[in-house]
This record gives sequence, C-alpha cells and structure tokens, in this order.
Amino acid sequence: MTFDTDLFVIGGGSGGVRAARIAAAEGGARVMLAEESRMGGTCVIRGCVPKKLMVFASAFPDLMEDANAYGWRVKSEGFDWPRFRSALEAELTRLENAYRSTLTNAGVTIHDARATVVDPHTVRLSTGETFTAKHILIATGGWPFVPDIPGRDLAITSNEIFHLDTLPKRALVVGGGYIASEFACILHGLGVETTQYYRGAQILRGFDDESRGHVANAMQARGIAIHCGTDVLRLEKTATGIRAVATDGSEKEFDLVLYATGRRPNAAGLGLQEIGVKFGRNGQILVDDWSQTAVPSIYAVGDVTDRVNLTPVAIREGHAFADTVFRGIPTRFDHDLIPSAIFTQPELGSVGLSEEQARDIEPIEVYSATFRPMKTLFAGRPDRVLMKLIVSQATRKVLGCHIVAPDAGELIQLAAIAIRMGATKEDFDRTVAVHPTISEELVTMRKPTRKG
Ligand SMILES: Cc1cc2nc3c(=O)[nH]c(=O)nc-3n(C[C@H](O)[C@H](O)[C@H](O)COP(=O)(O)OP(=O)(O)OC[C@H]3O[C@@H](n4cnc5c(N)ncnc54)[C@H](O)[C@@H]3O)c2cc1C
Repeated sequence: MTFDTDLFVIGGGSGGVRAARIAAAEGGARVMLAEESRMGGTCVIRGCVPKKLMVFASAFPDLMEDANAYGWRVKSEGFDWPRFRSALEAELTRLENAYRSTLTNAGVTIHDARATVVDPHTVRLSTGETFTAKHILIATGGWPFVPDIPGRDLAITSNEIFHLDTLPKRALVVGGGYIASEFACILHGLGVETTQYYRGAQILRGFDDESRGHVANAMQARGIAIHCGTDVLRLEKTATGIRAVATDGSEKEFDLVLYATGRRPNAAGLGLQEIGVKFGRNGQILVDDWSQTAVPSIYAVGDVTDRVNLTPVAIREGHAFADTVFRGIPTRFDHDLIPSAIFTQPELGSVGLSEEQARDIEPIEVYSATFRPMKTLFAGRPDRVLMKLIVSQATRKVLGCHIVAPDAGELIQLAAIAIRMGATKEDFDRTVAVHPTISEELVTMRKPTRKG
C-alpha cells in the first residue's frame, strides 16, 4: 500500500515538532505536520517561555530594593505592562518563526489547519484536504479547564493571562499546583495584591512536604494571602469587580480571577475513540512504553498521554518515537528521575523521591539545612533557603534532592546528573565545596537531620 506521507504529526508543540524534525531530517521520512494555532505549542506560546519571562519581570522590585541596600541609588517609576506585553509578543513571534523554519529546513510540510483522524491511516484537515499516512502521531497537548461553578465565565486561565489589557489591582488565583503558585508569585511581584485559594491542605501537592511548606511560608511572608482548605463556590459580577464566594464563608472582591486548577489532555473530537484508540479516566490517550496506542499505526506523545506533563519529557518522548519508528533505534524513554523546577519566588528544584515517598520504600537518612544566604542577608531580607538530600541507609545512594533557593532550577539540573549516575552521600561529601555559594551546603551536610 502506498501513502501520501510516511508520518503525519498532529500538533506543532514540544513533542510533535521534535518527532517531525528527527523523523524527517535524521530518519529520511516524508513528514507532514498540522498545527491549528501558533507553531511551538503550549511551551512557547502560552506556557514555559512567556511565563518565565514574566517571572523575570516580576523579580525586579526585589532586585531594585536589594540594589539600594548594596549602596546603589535606584528608584523605580513603576511597571509598564503594555510595554512588557508588546516585547513579550515580539519574542514569541520570533520563536514561533524559528520553530517554523526549523521544520521547513528539515523537509517537513506544514499545514496550518486543525486535523482529525478518519481511520488508522487517514487524516482530514479543516481545509477539507485528506492525506494518507503510514504512521500518525498525536501530539495535541493539554488544555486548562475551569470547573463547572456558577460564574465560571468571569474567570480566566493561564492561556489568557499573557494578553490582559491592564494589570489588575486585586487578583485571586485558584489552585495549588505549580502553575497556580507561579502565577501568584508573578502577580505579586508585579505589584498586584494577590490571594491564592487552594482546596487542599498545602499547595504544591506531590512535592516534598518540607519543601512545599518552606515555599508556602516564604510566599506568605512576602505578602501573598494563601488560603488552604478554601475553594470558590461561585463568582458574581459586581459594579466594581468580581465577587468570589468561598467555602470558608468569605465573600471577597477581585479585579481578576485566574483559575489554574488543572489541565486536561486535548484529545476529544479527534476521531480516535471511533477507530479503537483507548483512553484513560482523565481523557488521556493510553500508550505503551513505545508511545504506541491500541491502534498500531497511531502513536501519541506529550501531555495528551498525561504521563509527566513537562516540555523536556514531551521532547524526549517525541524523539524516542522517531528513533524507534524511523531510525531503526528502538528507544523507550525512561520516566524515572526527571528533575523539575517550580519558578515561584523562592524557586523549588526537585529530583528523585520526596522524604515521604522514600520513607515508604526503605529506611532513609534525611540531610536538611535551612539558612539565610549571604546576598539577601546583607540586604536585610528574611529569606531562607533549604537544601535537602534523601539518602538510602542500605545503598548510601542519594534518592532525592530538593532545593528551595534563588536559581534552584539551575542548581537541580546539575544535582540531577550526579543522582542519575547513582551518586552516594559519600560521593557528595568527597566533592570539594565551592565557596562562598549557597549550594556548597549540598556537600557539607555531615550529620543526618533525622533517620527513619
Ligand atoms: C502556564 C504553563 C507553564 C508551564 N511551564 C512549564 C515549565 O516551566 N517547564 C516545563 O517543562 N513545562 C511547563 N509547562 C508544560 C509544557 O508546556 C507542556 O508539558 C508541553 O508544552 C507539552 O508539549 P506537547 O507537545 O505535549 O503539547 P503542546 O505544547 O500543548 O502542543 C500541542 C499543539 O497541538 C495543537 N493542536 C491540538 N489539537 C490539534 C488538532 N486537532 N490539529 C492541529 N493542531 C492541534 C495545539 O494548538 C498545540 O500547539 C507549562 C504549561 C503551562 C500551561
């Protein structure tokens, strides 16, 4: 049987772009890719990149305050949101074009259209065209959702936050995950009076307990009003804003309500159920270790499979798929020991097991240190950092590392290499400290804080 193309990729985000490029440029395959929105997907257009640029923007008030403590005379004339927003948009357009030319240069044919699947080898575009493909890759990502509460239309999601006409004076962020917590910090840093509601007992569920407590305390100390055990019952439009009626009995008014309570796999309406692709309870496409669905010619990678929803993971899954199917290099992406960072202020970097997870598996030693770092101590700031190692008593291997500190994302990337290589606590101890730094604490913690 002959096909119009060897691979049809649906979705031009992190996973789809990597798979298309490797299959075409290194696998010699004929590749088509459909993208219904802007090339680059969530990460580039409405996720990691614009968010991180907003994180940078929001950090300047602290930097200016610290500069004064260090002898500089710095006076801010305030934050110009429209100016920042225009610069942000220009940068996203630059990146979008770069993604587009990378694909074109690799020989991929781009279709700016929505695609659906007609049968195991046929894709239909919103333009009306249909194409047959030997393999189809679903890389359609995820989408934020707002729960079905009265007044839900008054809320925005992270998709809209980058396009606001004006910055609000008072914002409510609903949710306790990393996206909610990051935006609470961003808004606060930009001068917005920020409240965060989370229905659970502590924000950042799933991360190391001591680390999440440290981040939450620091956020509160900086002036973010975090209300755990609190959810929104309904939202009401008022003459001056949006009233949030909450489960704790409170009724407060805000100018902006940002819902970041979760994202769902973006797989509905693609025609996949009809042809036998299997779905999980959260609407995610079920795949095996090779990212293959129940229909052998159809594969899926990235957030639509709801495994670990991070850009580098979608990229690796897409790459492994292309290596396996088009380069004759069978590759299974290993989802173990994935480092990650939360760009709150302060940042949290994590790799491996939390103290709680490790304790459930085997006897451990915990090395944990919290202290005021030199730079902010000098500036008279109360900020504390946390350095934490979880060590196996039996093998001495470092099972987890958690850092709450400025640039924790940068630090955890390096710690992750050592942990991935199987470093023991004694390997850390043998490593000479770099002085004076925050991270030298990682190699100077001699006595366990606790065992168990
Ligand atoms: C606010 C926010 C912050 C984030 N921050 C980070 C971070 O700091 N670090 C990190 O690692 N990850 C972060 N993420 C997660 C990261 O963005 C995702 O894990 C990653 O983008 C997933 O890539 P993907 O290829 O699976 O899907 P996506 O990047 O979502 O791409 C899917 C693409 O498919 C397109 N599409 C969907 N359906 C169709 C169709 N039928 N036809 C044609 N095109 C279609 C969409 O338009 C989209 O462009 C963040 C996410 C958000 C929302």
